[in-house]
Amino acid sequence: MATYCLYGEELQRFSTMPENASGIAYEWEGESVIHLRLRPLEHSFGIVHSVRFVHGSEPDADADFTVFVDAEGNALVRKRGSQDAEEATIIPAKENLYSRSKGLIEVGILEGKRVLIIGLGSFGSQIAVELAKSGVGEFSLMDFDRVELHNLVRHTASLNDLGRLKTDFVRETILGKNPYAKVDMFPININEHLDILECEVRKADLVICATDNNQSRFNISEALVRLQKVGIFGRAITRAEGGDVFRYRPGGPCYVCMIGNQWYKDMAEEITNEASARKNGQIAAYTSPEDADAMVQVGLSSDIEPMCNMMVKLSLVELSRGSESGISSLEEELSFPAYMWVNRRERHYKGFAPFNKCANMPTIMRWYGINLPKNEHCSLCSEKPRLSLGEDFLKGIDPELSRINTDFGDDVEELLK
Ligand SMILES: [Zn+2]
Repeated sequence: MATYCLYGEELQRFSTMPENASGIAYEWEGESVIHLRLRPLEHSFGIVHSVRFVHGSEPDADADFTVFVDAEGNALVRKRGSQDAEEATIIPAKENLYSRSKGLIEVGILEGKRVLIIGLGSFGSQIAVELAKSGVGEFSLMDFDRVELHNLVRHTASLNDLGRLKTDFVRETILGKNPYAKVDMFPININEHLDILECEVRKADLVICATDNNQSRFNISEALVRLQKVGIFGRAITRAEGGDVFRYRPGGPCYVCMIGNQWYKDMAEEITNEASARKNGQIAAYTSPEDADAMVQVGLSSDIEPMCNMMVKLSLVELSRGSESGISSLEEELSFPAYMWVNRRERHYKGFAPFNKCANMPTIMRWYGINLPKNEHCSLCSEKPRLSLGEDFLKGIDPELSRINTDFGDDVEELLK
């Protein structure tokens, strides 16, 4: 017995067409699973067969499979040479695809939302797919990188995707989860295309910043503050021993307020890619290839998962803000602008208490909310006259003013010293 899969939306469309039509059937080799499509896929899989969609009950002798469709869009499948027509699994139309999530999230609202994701590495690719699974209907993807061998340990891409543009890979994965999603791709370096960045931030309901360098984060922050859009930033620190997530909401502290803060400065960011780390100054130009290689130290995929997960949760809270849903309570609870996570008691966190003996002490694998204040002298979001965003940008962060206390509670502050 074979398993046949048909698309409800295609059957509905075909039932209104006057003539019979040819399609393509894809068989998962050796598994007797056959997907019968009216419209060919962009990338085929398995063994390809011919299929004829027909009105009425007469099979097409030339086609490997005949799909009999009635006026209501119900269908049966018959293999060439077989006497019997068999039932098929019908993949539901748009409105029913995410019906299981109804109540928990407002699927109808998410379907109309547009999310801009900048950076499609291990963070961005995962977040994109999670948001597609939640029913977000529109995406704008930006990354000029291609899938490389060293990405694969943490990336959602597989060996078969080696060499492909990350934008193409992520688009295809999104469409694999939600074939009705609209996905626009921009394989560009945003630092060189600020006009496109501006245009896309303007159109987006939410911006995810998952890039690995401060220049792009500045540029994105600048656009968010100017256009008054919500943005979510995330990163891992060295070997993903921990990480942090930051959310910008108009009127609140911006990303520059945060990086001016001593707590943020003290955390050495994870270096995942030698070429880009050299370019953005994380690895000094004179560093030998051997030393540079030793500096590229990535953590495990499971260690960046918590940050991705928090970014997805904050995204869903922001996208469904104001609507009644099962995650509405998170609006009250996830109200801090920044969050910190620790995977292991190493380096920055060596003073933390062991997990099983922590009582009320800071420990690993728990989220800590940081009530980061707005820096009233911030060079980006302050109402006061601001500095230009050129070369002087970083210098504009006054070292004295940057020592603002974060609201960690004294224990954590002490331990992070
Ligand atoms: Zn600011």
